[in-house]
Amino acid sequence: MVHLEPLRGPGLAGALPCSLLRRKHVCLSLGVCLAQSTGDPTGTMLNLIKFPPIFTVHQVPTVFQEDSIISGYRHPRSSATDCVLSLFQLTNETLNIWTHFLPTWYFLWKLLMVALMQNGLRDAYSWPLLVFLASCCLYPLTSSCAHTFSSMSTRARHICFFFDYGALSFYSLGSAVTYSAYVFPDRWVGGVFHQYYVSVAVFNTVICTALACYSRLGLPFLQYNRDTVKRFTELQSPTLGKAVRVLAFAYPYLFDNIPLFYRISVCIGDDCTNNETNGLHYCHITLAFLTVFLFITHLPERLAPGRFDYIGHSHQLFHMCGIIGTYVQMEAILLDMSLRQPWLQVHGLPTSFNNSFGALLLSLTLSLLIIFSFSQALFWMPSKSCPTAIRDCSKPSPHQD
Ligand SMILES: [Zn+2]
Repeated sequence: MVHLEPLRGPGLAGALPCSLLRRKHVCLSLGVCLAQSTGDPTGTMLNLIKFPPIFTVHQVPTVFQEDSIISGYRHPRSSATDCVLSLFQLTNETLNIWTHFLPTWYFLWKLLMVALMQNGLRDAYSWPLLVFLASCCLYPLTSSCAHTFSSMSTRARHICFFFDYGALSFYSLGSAVTYSAYVFPDRWVGGVFHQYYVSVAVFNTVICTALACYSRLGLPFLQYNRDTVKRFTELQSPTLGKAVRVLAFAYPYLFDNIPLFYRISVCIGDDCTNNETNGLHYCHITLAFLTVFLFITHLPERLAPGRFDYIGHSHQLFHMCGIIGTYVQMEAILLDMSLRQPWLQVHGLPTSFNNSFGALLLSLTLSLLIIFSFSQALFWMPSKSCPTAIRDCSKPSPHQD
């Protein structure tokens, strides 16, 4: 059983030096010391909330450790209540959660506006947009839930991020469905590549989800189960596991964007759809590459380990670039959809249930089956000789998200 001593005191008060806690602007986010330092009655109210303790990197099992993040860790066996409470406590996960939780509601509002206010459900031309907006709601929501509850146990952590990967691959399918409907250059519309594009994108979600889940622990049942983790990827080389995960998401992204890359950088002629949307597409692509750069490099915390534990570390910036990129992508899609509607409704591939909602449902079902397989192995083959705490807190290696 891993025995953990809290870093210092309750809540964020345990994470920061006393000199910082005396400053009003820091205490505002704590509540714990607000009443003492400012006399504000709000602080007295918040003081009634007992935040869970937080820990340093050396106090948590390896699987919970993040590259160059020294402090701000939650207990690796947190209760669900503590996980929810940690939303209001500054830990190294707090901004990871909020940077995806808040945008979820914006995209949900957008989805409801199109579906209900603009009669999107009745207009087949809008169906691909609805699929895309649904994916824009699902992936940040899943991500914020994964970051919230990932500290409940080692097993929970793996399952949370399996779902996170599934939602990301679903987002790549949402992009492909809308690109097929609104973004393909005129020259390629109706061609052979266009006709198979969405089907291949569905297949890619299977590859993406499976490869990303594989990058955490290896093959379920063969390389890991409830008691053993024999996978080669991260035990021998953490970098290899990370590389596999980057490949899992880069591959469908690059495939989805083939028509866009062709349209904005290769195609020459009148039928290349060279309209005012291209600037937004450039912006979205730039943000996508910046997102990958942050994920791979772990900057800025690699330059100053411990300095960015709570605010400004690469995963927070990765979330923010990703979600801003999604917003710009949505604006580009909306503009293309509007500008090209007269031409597309005459020359475009007709939108059907199969190439919109059908693709969504098939992709979701396949991803859930894969996640179930990878998760099931974590509960498989019980061993009476192995104490629970060892099973839950040993083996897996760092940098897994
Ligand atoms: Zn994340």
